[in-house]
Amino acid sequence: MDPYTIFADIVAGRAPASIVYEDPDVLAFMDIRPMTPGHLLVVPKVPARSLAELDPEIGGKLFQVGQQLAAALRASEVNCDGVNFFLADGVTAGQEVFHVHLHVIARTPGDGFGLRGRPRTPPREDLDYLAASIRGALRRSVSE
Ligand code: 5GP
Repeated sequence: MDPYTIFADIVAGRAPASIVYEDPDVLAFMDIRPMTPGHLLVVPKVPARSLAELDPEIGGKLFQVGQQLAAALRASEVNCDGVNFFLADGVTAGQEVFHVHLHVIARTPGDGFGLRGRPRTPPREDLDYLAASIRGALRRSVSE
């Protein structure tokens, strides 16, 4: 599949962006269609289409930078009473740009942003069953 995305152009300086942070591994900039007025995107400079392709160390850096940006949003002129992190991995999860990115979204009361869903509390045995399956998958992935 074509690895090109607009974020690769932004990282390379070929496309415009309102940059808030840059280091050798990570770039952060304003989302062009913000959910709220303080909506940032944190991206790895080396493109990875999905979490599975992302170097875990760089994944850790995305979160670290996100944490710093959350503090900066609260301390800036952005109206910010709270912050959401959001990451869409895969089409079904809502991913539109196939260059991993962490959304850092400033929140204010009544801003209209939120996750939709119908949570319910399943029986404990259902939770235990899925937990065991996920533990098994984790064990297999670390022994690979
Ligand atoms: P996704 O749905 O993949 O998690 O989010 C993609 C995000 O990238 C969207 O919030 C969208 O507004 C943002 N976006 C798409 N194209 C551009 C662009 O050219 N510049 C910037 N700054 N953001 C973009």
